[in-house]
Amino acid sequence: MPSTTAPLDLLLLPEWIVPVEPAGVVLRGHALGIRDGRIALLAPRQQALAIPARERRELPGMLLAPGLVNAHGHAAMSLFRGLADDLPLMTWLQEHIWPAEAKWVSEDFVRDGTALAIAEQVKGGVTAFSDMYFFPQIASEVAHGSGVRAQITIPVLNFPVPGAHDTDEALRHGLELFSDLRHHPRIKVAFGPHAPYTVSDDRLERVRVLAEQLDAGIHMHVHETAHEVQQALEQHGERPLARLARLGLLGPRFQAVHMTQIDDHDLALLVQHNSSVIHCPESNLKLASGFCPVERLWQAGVNVAIGTDGAASNNDLDLLGETRTAALLAKAVAGSATALDAHRALRMATLNGARALGIDDECGSLEAGKSADLVAFDLGGLAQQPVYDPVSQLIYASGRDCVKHVWVGGKALLEDGRLTRVDEDELLDKARAWGTKIAGA
Ligand SMILES: [Zn+2]
Repeated sequence: MPSTTAPLDLLLLPEWIVPVEPAGVVLRGHALGIRDGRIALLAPRQQALAIPARERRELPGMLLAPGLVNAHGHAAMSLFRGLADDLPLMTWLQEHIWPAEAKWVSEDFVRDGTALAIAEQVKGGVTAFSDMYFFPQIASEVAHGSGVRAQITIPVLNFPVPGAHDTDEALRHGLELFSDLRHHPRIKVAFGPHAPYTVSDDRLERVRVLAEQLDAGIHMHVHETAHEVQQALEQHGERPLARLARLGLLGPRFQAVHMTQIDDHDLALLVQHNSSVIHCPESNLKLASGFCPVERLWQAGVNVAIGTDGAASNNDLDLLGETRTAALLAKAVAGSATALDAHRALRMATLNGARALGIDDECGSLEAGKSADLVAFDLGGLAQQPVYDPVSQLIYASGRDCVKHVWVGGKALLEDGRLTRVDEDELLDKARAWGTKIAGA
């Protein structure tokens, strides 16, 4: 253990600190110290200033919070942003997205699309994201180089996918990736069976066995629409979540994405197995998929995280905006203005996301010993005045342009709104070149 009297690498002096844990706390006149990439100190300003530090940084008018966790997305699909809009889910998937993927998705597509997605997310205060897409080894390389934290999932479907002829090959690649990244400080590999209607029982069995052996997460779209549940009932006489429970997939490692359809039995299963739900409100709204009953889940004790979904169905990776949508929508769905208040909304976008991805020992809140994954939000704008409660101002009155600084593991990825590791012009050129190619086809 480092000596507590060793100098801090960096001492941050913001106007407010919201640690998220303990819940509902706003610290004023406090400072956060970083040593060896970890939070070494959270203390009153005067006390903190007595400790030697290599660098001290005043952050006037800024709120320091844990980095945002985007718990569901398809990063490389950013290159399909706006390709097909205003369509129902199955038409969008079957007539537009799947054919475009068959035609365009390659290692280069995933490399460039993932880089674009990560850059957009870091600029919006995201320090950890989950990715469900093809060529996971390429996505993990990009995530590694970017400095962000990621959960990369191994795609499992009944049909061939880009990069794998069948499930055997996809799992073989996935297991190699798992072994390569087993000790990676920022990247975790999980299984990503696409959805109950695209993955057979025998494949799900294999995922279950491997996930148990490797203690890995299982990340899956579940109950995205009423149609999905209805079709499963007609074909198999069983709701999809009940089928997953019967196959043994549910557990604390299980991450159920969407869950717009929840009956009493579904809720009991989620509670009993301590599984997480990942709410993607804007994707659900845009595809008219339905509404996840966030407040009901929360009150029952289910861990609810939030995700943007892919940029092809959202159309941005703005987790702060998504959180605002979630806070507003939860009230409408619950019929109660007290549902998902601003502090709980921020918790959903940070600690709950980390918990869903199984990385809450490492990040998600500002506690001594955790990785210094932080965002400084500037609440000094006209539209944010006056500031009575900075968390209310952040959730209800701020856009992602207020994200000024982002650190992951104490390393600055965004300085004064500028990406430190990415040439933005080069990224823009590549994204435009893909757009021209795809649009011209
Ligand atoms: Zn999705």
